[in-house]
Amino acid sequence: MNPREEYRYNRLTWAELDEAIALQKVVILPTGSTEQHGRHLPLDVDVFLAESVCLEVGRRAAERVLVLPPIDYGLNMHHIDFPGTIHLEPEIFVDFCLNITKSVAYHGFEKILLVNGHGSNAPLVELVARKTVLATHSLCFACGYFAFATDAFAKVKETEVMAHADEFETLLYLHLAPERVQMDQAAEDNDRMGK
Ligand SMILES: [Zn+2]
Repeated sequence: MNPREEYRYNRLTWAELDEAIALQKVVILPTGSTEQHGRHLPLDVDVFLAESVCLEVGRRAAERVLVLPPIDYGLNMHHIDFPGTIHLEPEIFVDFCLNITKSVAYHGFEKILLVNGHGSNAPLVELVARKTVLATHSLCFACGYFAFATDAFAKVKETEVMAHADEFETLLYLHLAPERVQMDQAAEDNDRMGK
C-alpha cells in the first residue's frame, strides 16, 4: 500500500509505517463501548459511530491521517444490568489506551488524537491524552466526535434531548447502516440502571 493513500493503520506493513511516520500523519484512536442502546439499536453504537466518523476523516484526508483499530469497551457500570453491556474499570481503560498511545509515540508519531464516542469515557480519554503528553515527545489530544456534529444536528432534530440512544445516535446509525436499526422497537424510555 501507498502510505499516502492508506489511512487504516493496521493495513500497512511495518516498512510502510516507517513512511507514514516520515509523513508525520495524525494517528487517530477511536474509543467507544459495548453497551445497551435501547431496544432498537445494537450494542456497538458508540464504537461503530466513532470509528465511522474517523474512517470518513481518513477517506477525506488520507495523506494526513492514520486510523487505529478502535477500543470497543468503556466505563459502563451504570448500564451493567442491561444484558450485553461490558464494563471496564477506569484504571484498566486508561492503562490500555495509554499503552497504545505510548507505542505510537515510541515509533515517532508526534500527533495523536483520541476520538471518543461514549460519554462516560470522556474524563478517561482526557487523562490518557495528558498522560501521553507527560510521558512522551508526542502531542496528544482527546475529543468527542459529537462536538463536531451538533450544528448540523440542530438543523434537523425533532426532539429536545441529546443523550444516550437518542435521536442523534439513531439518526447517525440510520445513515450509516439502516438495516441494523429496528425502528419498530424505538420508544421513549429511560436508561436508569436495573437495580
Ligand atoms: Zn451511545
